[in-house]
Amino acid sequence: MSLPAEKIAVSSSPLYHYDEVRIVHLELTHRCNAACPMCARNVHGGAINPDMPLSELSLEDVQTILLPDFVAQLKRIYACGNYGDPMVARDCLDVFRYLRQHGPELNLDLHTNGSARRPEWWRELADIMKQGPHYLRFGIDGLEDTNHLYRRGTDWKTIMRSAEAFIEAGGRAEWDFLVFKHNEYQVDDARELAEKMGFKDFFVRKTGRFLSAGELETSDRFDVLDKKGKFEYWLEQPSRAEYNNPAYDDLALVRQNFGNYENYLDQVEIRCKVGGPKRKMYLSAQGYALPCCWLAAVFSESSTPERKQFAQMIDQYGGKEALDARRIGLKKVIEGSLFQQIIPQSWGLESVAAGKLATCARTCGKAYDPLDHQRD
Ligand code: SF4
Ligand code: SF4
Repeated sequence: MSLPAEKIAVSSSPLYHYDEVRIVHLELTHRCNAACPMCARNVHGGAINPDMPLSELSLEDVQTILLPDFVAQLKRIYACGNYGDPMVARDCLDVFRYLRQHGPELNLDLHTNGSARRPEWWRELADIMKQGPHYLRFGIDGLEDTNHLYRRGTDWKTIMRSAEAFIEAGGRAEWDFLVFKHNEYQVDDARELAEKMGFKDFFVRKTGRFLSAGELETSDRFDVLDKKGKFEYWLEQPSRAEYNNPAYDDLALVRQNFGNYENYLDQVEIRCKVGGPKRKMYLSAQGYALPCCWLAAVFSESSTPERKQFAQMIDQYGGKEALDARRIGLKKVIEGSLFQQIIPQSWGLESVAAGKLATCARTCGKAYDPLDHQRD
């Protein structure tokens, strides 16, 4: 099989080596108090995703995987993840204390819905985080009468108490506002409230999840279901163009240049979001190390063709045990050939059928990138 020269050049570099990693995306837990309809932990805001694992990293796990010297070499750790909210992890405070102890200059960040824990807990978290650079980003998608339409199961008063406690204790809080039709008219009021409360930043977020990728089309609506799978209401795209994800505008060009989604995945050039100068890795709540959260979905959800493809690659590589940083050590995982050769080399293959990773093409294909356009 012959490959274009520039693709061979791209694929010949490893992602990074162990001592070059600078950013860790840390998934402390798969548990969460909320049920956001577009989150993979549940089925359209209703029943829990039956294929989701329920794991959590303890302080001991984190100490075993992220050794003091490794923490000291990092620029940033942020707790977020695919399926859970870090604030509900049992050892969240102890883990943050450990990371701050070994990374006094580390950017220590956390993403949360804020609707749990007592104010004292948030004050303690602020005390730990504020000893160095940090932010705590609350996902609050509206005001008291609308936030629960996306952040299902959350309680406004609890969120406000959490934010107040964190801010009063000297923590740097930021507000992420995911815009839909039902809350778009509240963006300015929410920004004003954020300023009044002492949030240091306010971000408008534009979801890319109204895309039906297979058809290279967007849909206007997303069904929200109850626990029994019964329809409750729709989430709708904002009516104001400024709040729509600008990547949707690229779809016409993608259809024109590639014809269909399969061709797109086969042909698009991949620009990895974690390799190169980013040098970023993902640690899952099961203790598996992978380059990113998108590939980590392979362990947790029902087998789409995309996940099956990566699962096969892992099986051939030695199974998920070969990615278990708790068992074999993080250095061994990162220096293994999956990070060093197999994944980056797959990007240069001529098609998904030939082994190019579909997840990489979908997430990091250069021609269509809703993730890069989520923020204003
Ligand atoms: S708060 Fe986060 S983890 Fe919890 S359901 Fe919403 S998006 Fe998922
Ligand atoms: S999906 Fe693939 S190309 Fe994208 S960040 Fe992850 S490893 Fe890199």
